[in-house]
Amino acid sequence: MSCRCSEFADLELEREQIKQRSKQSKTLLADLSFVVTHEDVEHALYRCDSCGCLWQRALAWNWGNIEYLFKIPAITSDDWLVLPFVDPDSVLIWVAMMERFLTQGTFEPSGNPCRRDGCERPGIKLSVNCLVHHIESVQRLGNLPATPDGRWLPCYSKVSPDSLDTYVAGLQP
Ligand SMILES: [Zn+2]
Ligand SMILES: [Zn+2]
Repeated sequence: MSCRCSEFADLELEREQIKQRSKQSKTLLADLSFVVTHEDVEHALYRCDSCGCLWQRALAWNWGNIEYLFKIPAITSDDWLVLPFVDPDSVLIWVAMMERFLTQGTFEPSGNPCRRDGCERPGIKLSVNCLVHHIESVQRLGNLPATPDGRWLPCYSKVSPDSLDTYVAGLQP
C-alpha cells in the first residue's frame, strides 16, 4: 500500500503553512495509526504503516488552537513520551519575537567579559552579560517568550538553541 507522506514537506516557519497543514490534517489522520498521547494531552504520536514515518500532532494556540500534524525524525515512543519535538507554531512565534527584539537596535560590546560563570562571550553595553545571557534575563522578565520546549527538529537547526550565537549575531543590524 502506498502513502502520501512524501508529499508533505517540513513546515516552513510561516503562518499560512501551518493553517494549510491544519486543513489537511483530518485526511492525513485517516491514513495514520495512532501510537500514543503525551501526558500534556496536546501532543500525540502517529505512525504511517506504509512507510514507517512518524508524525506529531499539536495545537497552534495562536491560531485558535487548530490541530495540525508534522513529520518528525525516527524516535521510540518511550523517548518521545519523555520529551516530544518542538512545535513549529511555537518556533515561529519565538523566532518572530526574537527578530523584533534583536533588529530594534545594536547591542554593542562593552569591553567587559560576560559576568555569567563560565561564559567567555564579550559583555554588551546596558547589561552585565553577553547578548545570549542578556536574552535569557529578558526572557525571565517575561519580555521575550521562553525558548520553545522539546527536541529540536533538524529542519529548524538554523534557529536552534545550539546555534543561538550565530543566529543572534546574524540578526544584529
Ligand atoms: Zn507514509
Ligand atoms: Zn554570557
